[in-house]
Amino acid sequence: MSRDGRSRTRTYAAGALALLAFATACGDNGGGGAAPATGTAASAAPQATGAGAAPTTPGATPAGAGAAAWAKWNLTPLPPAPAPPADKPVKLERTGPVPVFSDVKTTDKVVFITIDDGAEKDPKFVEMLTDLKVPISMFLTKDIVKNDYGYFKPLQALGNHIQNHTVDHPVMSKLSPDKQKSEVCDDQSALTQQYGTAPLLFRPPFGDGANTPTLNTSVQQCGPRAIVLWRESMQIHDMQYQAADKKLKPGDIILAHFRGPKELKGATMTQMFGDLLARIQEQGFSVARLEDYIQAPAS
Ligand SMILES: [Zn+2]
Repeated sequence: MSRDGRSRTRTYAAGALALLAFATACGDNGGGGAAPATGTAASAAPQATGAGAAPTTPGATPAGAGAAAWAKWNLTPLPPAPAPPADKPVKLERTGPVPVFSDVKTTDKVVFITIDDGAEKDPKFVEMLTDLKVPISMFLTKDIVKNDYGYFKPLQALGNHIQNHTVDHPVMSKLSPDKQKSEVCDDQSALTQQYGTAPLLFRPPFGDGANTPTLNTSVQQCGPRAIVLWRESMQIHDMQYQAADKKLKPGDIILAHFRGPKELKGATMTQMFGDLLARIQEQGFSVARLEDYIQAPAS
């Protein structure tokens, strides 16, 4: 009997590993981090509450939602983010090679959340961000979002920016220069048309090719003025860290994805995001808006 138990455990572990590999496939560059912790879900499904549950404060600072809003999602409030720096740590140029970065130089105890692709379009996540007002940046892939561009508009209306993540999520370094260019330019034009503003930032799928001259040239030709990578990658309940000490640092950029139960071993987008916020809160960080730390080129 104990043998059966062990064998089941092994099978389960193998399955979990396979799933982890799948879950990381989209964005992670294989930095080799921790396996996701189990049994840490902090976010049971929120109960429907009546009117007035989520006080909406016009002009509220990021992560400055009321305690009731956090309680609704079974979360401990994050510290409010400091005011955006007047002197931006990242200053982008109008022309020339674009910088590649995975964190922002700052002493503010903040991290930045980026969410990629756009596959899962869970209305509950819109409700969650409307309640909590945690800033995110969305790196969207045209072929993954084009069946419902509208899903992302309420998220954009909360002040969140839409950024470029190619047309169909290829491994960029395997493509010809012309094809790399069309991957960036065609996503750029589709997102600009749909969301009314041109993406300032680009992220290559899997982080692949980020430091190659070919990709840099493609990005320059299409409009984005920086290539943005990440320091941590959100899995299901915890993050994979590139840092050996597995701790967040001021200015870290975190990668997450629009994913649902199929990719998250049954967890929902809002459970994953709630767990991400819990991991950030445990380490005493607040979440700031990435674009508030970046100076766009003078037009
Ligand atoms: Zn992606």
